[in-house]
Amino acid sequence: MNGTKQDLTTHCSPIVLQEYLDDELPQDEVTVVDRHLFMCTECKAELTRQISLFADIDTVLENSFPLPVDFADIVVANAARQFHPFYFGIREMMVVILVAAVLSIFAILTFFGAAELLPITARYVAIWNTF
Ligand SMILES: [Zn+2]
Repeated sequence: MNGTKQDLTTHCSPIVLQEYLDDELPQDEVTVVDRHLFMCTECKAELTRQISLFADIDTVLENSFPLPVDFADIVVANAARQFHPFYFGIREMMVVILVAAVLSIFAILTFFGAAELLPITARYVAIWNTF
C-alpha cells in the first residue's frame, strides 16, 4: 500500500494499480478501483499497459535460459551455505565419507600391515558365513 486511500474521483496511481494486480489492496479499495476502472479509460489503459508489461517480463524470463529441474534444491542448498558455512549437501557428505573410508584403510594398513589384517578378515568372514 502506498499509504493514500484510493477514491472514486481521482486517477489510480501506478502503485495502486500494481497492488490491485498483485491482490495486495484491501477489499474496500478493490471495490473503489473496480468502480473507477469501469468509468475511466485512462486508468483502464494504464492497467492494460501494466498487465502487458508484466506478461512481457514473464515471457522474457521464461525464454531467457532454461532452468534445471532441481533449481529450487540448488537455490536452497546455496542459501543454506550462505547462512551455515559448514553446511554439507548430500554430495559433499558422500565425498567426505569416501575420503574418510580411504584414509581409514590406509591408516589400518600402515599400523597393522596387510598380512596381519588377512587373518582378522578371514575370522570375520568365517563368523559372517555362520549366519
Ligand atoms: Zn482514472
